[in-house]
Amino acid sequence: MEDYLKEFQTLVKVNKFEERYAQEIIPESFFGFPLQTIVEAERKLLSQEVPSVAYFSMEYGLATSFYNSFQSAKPVSEFNMLPKQNIFSNMRIRDYYVPFHIENRIIDLPIYSGGLGVLAGDTLKSAADLGMPLAAVGILWRKGYFKQNFWFKDGQVPEELNWDPYSYPGLLPLDTVIKVPLKDQDLHLRLWKYYVYGFNKKHAVPLILLDSNLDENKPESRKLTDQLYRSDNSYIKIMQRIILGMGGIKAIKALGYHIEKYHLNEGHAAMALVEKADALKENNLHSLEKNFVYTCHTPVAAGHDRFALKDLEKVLPEENIEFIGKNGVENGDTANFTLLLMNCCEHVNAVAKKHGEITRLQFPHYEKKIQSITNGIHIPTWISDDIAGLFKKYEIEIGPCGGGHEGSKNLEKLRTNEQFRRDLWAAHQANKQRLGAIFKSWDVKENVLTLCWARRIAAYKRPSLIFQDPRRLVEIAKKVGPIQLFIAGKAHPNDNLVGTFINDIMNTIDSLGKHNPYLRIIMLENYDIFFGKLLTNSVDVWLNNPLPPFEASGTSGMKAILNGVLQLSTLDGWVVEAADAAPAAGIGEIFGYKHKSGDPVGNELDLRLDTDSAELYNSLEKLTKLYYATNENGKIDINSKWIDMMINCMILSHYFNTCRMLGEYRDRMWFVKE
Ligand SMILES: *Cc1c(COP(=O)(O)O)cnc(C)c1O
Repeated sequence: MEDYLKEFQTLVKVNKFEERYAQEIIPESFFGFPLQTIVEAERKLLSQEVPSVAYFSMEYGLATSFYNSFQSAKPVSEFNMLPKQNIFSNMRIRDYYVPFHIENRIIDLPIYSGGLGVLAGDTLKSAADLGMPLAAVGILWRKGYFKQNFWFKDGQVPEELNWDPYSYPGLLPLDTVIKVPLKDQDLHLRLWKYYVYGFNKKHAVPLILLDSNLDENKPESRKLTDQLYRSDNSYIKIMQRIILGMGGIKAIKALGYHIEKYHLNEGHAAMALVEKADALKENNLHSLEKNFVYTCHTPVAAGHDRFALKDLEKVLPEENIEFIGKNGVENGDTANFTLLLMNCCEHVNAVAKKHGEITRLQFPHYEKKIQSITNGIHIPTWISDDIAGLFKKYEIEIGPCGGGHEGSKNLEKLRTNEQFRRDLWAAHQANKQRLGAIFKSWDVKENVLTLCWARRIAAYKRPSLIFQDPRRLVEIAKKVGPIQLFIAGKAHPNDNLVGTFINDIMNTIDSLGKHNPYLRIIMLENYDIFFGKLLTNSVDVWLNNPLPPFEASGTSGMKAILNGVLQLSTLDGWVVEAADAAPAAGIGEIFGYKHKSGDPVGNELDLRLDTDSAELYNSLEKLTKLYYATNENGKIDINSKWIDMMINCMILSHYFNTCRMLGEYRDRMWFVKE
């Protein structure tokens, strides 16, 4: 038998191994997972024979509470456990807020803010499922994103999040410290590693996390990697991007990985180009270009990084400024990272077909480079146990790709199987009962139509659309049937405009107190991956109402369809493709303003709240009628169109997954030979 522990220790230099991790990393076992898998992943990345991919992202969404659940021999710090949080609702049980707690739940690795990070996390899991030689680079956010509190009359009140990376299971500080020489200082960064295993634990990919909290650094530099997306200070914003991009390239080099392609997930990582150009010691764009691909995730202006050249000049050496000046400057004085990436990457992808069209409209000069590869989700992460059980019973292979085409064919064949339809409904009800058990103080009922809007709170996503005309909402609930509505999401802590949405929503919820026999609204603090999974698989209808065409893709609805949850959605992002591909009965209700091909992109602040909310209510009324025709207080019409739509949703999940997405990255962006 090979001595994997010895090899692990040679390959991975864990800081204070004996003192900190000797109990959890033992022969054969890495926090309860196979150690061999890690050794093999490291060998592959070091091998000169295997061309590998490095994936850079500012954030990664990974939830140890239900996937990659490492076991820890020593106690996990209480700072890493889910704190008590409040629920705001119109039910007024005792008070506006009722504290709510899930015992013994470890927090998600607090290094993400929303969908972009969750996609990056799912990408790593699928890369591991497929055994792809890939290493990921990110930042160890010492204070995470932030902890969210809802205060009535104040809206969102952010609080600093404190957690303990040393007792977070599976997270390892390395001895390796790299140095980024800058004009005003040498910035030192410690490397950490976190391994993401595939669903069968046969492969893993390392996630390398950079940390500036070192004694060698100036006190203010130690805080650079504290908070994700700190935006109140352009120096810090610039430094965070230098750490990810330049630090990331140096980290890969220090680890000795043999990388052929660098995949920059969103523009935040653009400084990797600058570092690599410097390392190549030539300004030969062509050789640089061959190494880089870039995924552009948003048509919204705030998603594209721009910095005053003079601010960059304060920190970056002259040759770096020269390179940026040649390849990514607009109006003579502003560095535009998106331009830099468009100029210097061989391939660029938008994240859904519609988004490809919009990106080509926004960047006509790069039209030929821009292709679309639609986002996905990691099926084993997001499928509920009961739906997985249903797949198993009907011998539909789930696997990392959700059964591929075979699985979807089988679902189509089962459409007319009455027992299957009953079992599908029962699996869905079991999910809903679990939701009811968790929120039992709010008396969540399994035979009441339940909707959810949960995602990052950004203006174009229109979090308050369903509250635009509360009277109409109440009318539907009274006339057609009762409605339960879950709401959750974080707003960027420095975005005051968006913060007011939360305040408005709370006021509206409060004003609906007397209608709570018909309309129950439950608003959760600190939306995270755990709640994302719970809500996407257990409500009846997933509400998605971004203003077209500003939702590049969106992924939460993909989690919902996998579990047979219908869509109440505008036609944007991934939904455009889904609506096109769906069998005749559709996947729910599509409503609202549509962006037509060839039309200008439009104004992201013209939210069309009145016209689109009117359509939303009409569609909601239709769905509510159909729901209560299907489920008459537990008596089910098994031939209902509702169940056909559930099946249609599930069939589509065989396309909307990260396994398919990574195959496309490999075949259309990376072109690495394995
Ligand atoms: C899936 C997910 C998102 C992304 O939702 P969108 O619909 O793409 O906006 C954001 N946050 C969490 C916690 C998620 O799980």
